[in-house]
Amino acid sequence: MKKGRALSLLSGGLDSLLATRLIMDQGIEVVGLHFITPFFGYQKKGQEARYRERWRALHGIDTRIIDVSDEYLRILRNPRYGYGKNFNPCVDCKIFLFSRARDMMAEEKADFLVSGEVLGQRPMSQRRDTMRIVERDSGTEGFLLRPLCARFMKPTRAELEGIVDREKLLAITGRGRKPQMELAERMGIRHYPAPAGGCLLTDPEMAERIRKFFNQSPQATINEVLLLQVGRHFQLSEDVHLVVGRREEENERLMELSREGDTLLRVHGIPGPLGLLRGRTDAEGLRLAGSIVARYSKAKDQDRVEVHYGEAGEAFSSPLFVTPASEEQIAGLRF
Ligand code: SF4
Repeated sequence: MKKGRALSLLSGGLDSLLATRLIMDQGIEVVGLHFITPFFGYQKKGQEARYRERWRALHGIDTRIIDVSDEYLRILRNPRYGYGKNFNPCVDCKIFLFSRARDMMAEEKADFLVSGEVLGQRPMSQRRDTMRIVERDSGTEGFLLRPLCARFMKPTRAELEGIVDREKLLAITGRGRKPQMELAERMGIRHYPAPAGGCLLTDPEMAERIRKFFNQSPQATINEVLLLQVGRHFQLSEDVHLVVGRREEENERLMELSREGDTLLRVHGIPGPLGLLRGRTDAEGLRLAGSIVARYSKAKDQDRVEVHYGEAGEAFSSPLFVTPASEEQIAGLRF
């Protein structure tokens, strides 16, 4: 066989890992591309070296972790092919990621691209007609190889040119997971996440919150999207949001995500959550925020609770006395 080099889109799930391994097992050099956005893979941000090392140690794959958040937000605002069941723009997402991979081919001296897609596995993005659209619109026709279902697809250039042995590619279709599990077993792959577990845009509750926010604020930023993923959310008025941490890690995360102009609140001297108030508000709004924060603290049954607040990055130096909010008061404010 001719020597070759491929770029493989690694989602972090089993299928793309199997597809990558199938090509590597043919003696072809493969570089994994792992794209991250605030909706998938973002926990790797700042930890790229550790994850690369992990993939190399576990699977022998050299990987690039690439943050495409800004461009992704633009796509999410107005996807040409619409959304799936939740807020997932799967067809546009694939077109975008495959285009990015295609753009990297020259620099990485790659002959072709690899994807772990399986014909018929997903209702929207893995139908044959959609797969063709994705190839056409991403400019990857002829050099996007899907090793798991390749025997059902037209031979790609890598097969025709003798870089890849088509006989060793597979013919998996449909939604079942059994063939993939068996293949993983044969390949000795034990560490992999549950299927489709990685994209928040397919999580009904989270996707709904994100959709609602985008409808109100089409220019939503990365920071705002990350904030939507933490704690309990309340909308106090059109552009005032309160986020209340549910656990210590969430309180810490809120602290990290707070920015100039935000107000942070917490109950004084009694264990309780951190509240992050964003948007211009008056004394009444601040009091309401304090009463919600108090409701989720150990002082929730007291009549009068002392809450301290301050600007993000500054001390909690201003006191406020509130009565913890009742369920009726907050029911209509949940976001
Ligand atoms: S599930 Fe999420 S990551 Fe996967 S194609 Fe759809 S939008 Fe993209």
